[in-house]
Amino acid sequence: MTQFAATICWVAALVIWYIIRYPHQRRARKHKIVDSRDRSSQQTLVAISVVGVGLIPAIWALTGMGFPKSANLPFSPVAAWLGVVAAIAYLWFFYRSHKDLGHNWSATLEIRAKHTLVTSGVYHYVRHPMYVSFWLMAIAQALLLQNWFVGLAGLVGIGILYFFRVKKEEKLMLDTFGATYRDYSRKTARLIPFVY
Ligand code: SAH
Repeated sequence: MTQFAATICWVAALVIWYIIRYPHQRRARKHKIVDSRDRSSQQTLVAISVVGVGLIPAIWALTGMGFPKSANLPFSPVAAWLGVVAAIAYLWFFYRSHKDLGHNWSATLEIRAKHTLVTSGVYHYVRHPMYVSFWLMAIAQALLLQNWFVGLAGLVGIGILYFFRVKKEEKLMLDTFGATYRDYSRKTARLIPFVY
């Protein structure tokens, strides 16, 4: 494995990510929104995360791993292979969570007409499998694109999205589903079963 091959793996994973997301994005437009919270600030959070996991690594890759060059690290093939494993894992979580959420998915904090609380499939194990996928995506980026600035950009971008969103999302679910969501939260961890 070379840095070039690892960068190609990072690009390929992003392309698959988009192929998984696209049909859900299209379908979501057809389902009426009945509740929406902090739409513009949630859109800003999405934009910040895109800078971290899209724009900054893309600039680095397109400048031939040259910007910012001073942050380049000595290439570790072992880390890069672990990055491939993390990329496969994030794509799996991303695919599963979309499949299980179905028409309930949205890019920001929204409740759709006929919204149902999903507690089965991958949601049986964790409450936020899509955010598990996002964290794994940032980890994969840090391992595949071996530049400390680019690696950190992904982790910070996802961290900002996650920490400024998760409590608001849980409040939205609690307001919508009440005791059913409270019970579900009691039994099911956020990101790591039995830990957090
Ligand atoms: N946080 C979840 C979902 C991300 S998509 C995850 O990480 O997998 C964001 C939207 O999903 C939110 O607007 C919310 O309305 C919806 N949502 C979150 N958890 C849900 C659940 N268990 N069942 C149904 N909809 C859910």
